[in-house]
Amino acid sequence: MSDSTAAYDEVNRRIAAAAVAASRDPSQITLVAVTKTHGPEIIQPLLKAGHRVYGENRVQEAQGKWPDLKRRYADIELHLIGPLQSNKAREAVSLFDVIESVDREKIARVLAGEMARQDRWPELLVQVNTGLEAQKAGIAPDEAKAFVQHLRYDLHLNIRGLMCIPPFDQPPISHFQQLAGLAQELALPVISMGMSNDFEQAIACGATHVRVGSALFGART
Ligand SMILES: *Cc1c(COP(=O)(O)O)cnc(C)c1O
Repeated sequence: MSDSTAAYDEVNRRIAAAAVAASRDPSQITLVAVTKTHGPEIIQPLLKAGHRVYGENRVQEAQGKWPDLKRRYADIELHLIGPLQSNKAREAVSLFDVIESVDREKIARVLAGEMARQDRWPELLVQVNTGLEAQKAGIAPDEAKAFVQHLRYDLHLNIRGLMCIPPFDQPPISHFQQLAGLAQELALPVISMGMSNDFEQAIACGATHVRVGSALFGART
């Protein structure tokens, strides 16, 4: 068994344990395997093990490795988890199945136009900047509700959920709770939060999707 498959089994075991500890059904939690910086040879063992949900944070990098893999495994679900520029919206809509980083009106409008043009409808999540960090993307929490309603009712976008990346230097729990509360208020089914260092806490707070990279593939260089 290769290293990455052993790590994969271990992450799955920890996800299931965290779900059970929170009286949740483990099958309600999806592992998004974050493959940024890693080549197909690292991804292949997970594909062979049957894993189908992956995350990349850059459109251009994803274009270099995923079109081939998606041709070979038709049921791959590829998530864009990093910031999206308008000039990459066309490529993003054609390659990704879920775009987790909708974070401003302009990109929402450009995506709406591209999705109609291509007749391809990736699921969309709104990124919330729970820590109000200047360097981080995302809608401020107190604007999230109006933003989601605007996207739904004015732009006719099917927003499926929320995503956040808490500040690195703070305990994540209050951020996870805030995101879960917002999702509940907006009746959004998808809550993407939790990374290698904190996915168990995110599951305790209601995450439906955890985005895990280094715990699966080792530290990135
Ligand atoms: C890289 C990345 C992750 C995975 O981070 P790890 O700490 O390696 O698990 C999750 N979410 C986003 C948005 C990322 O960019």
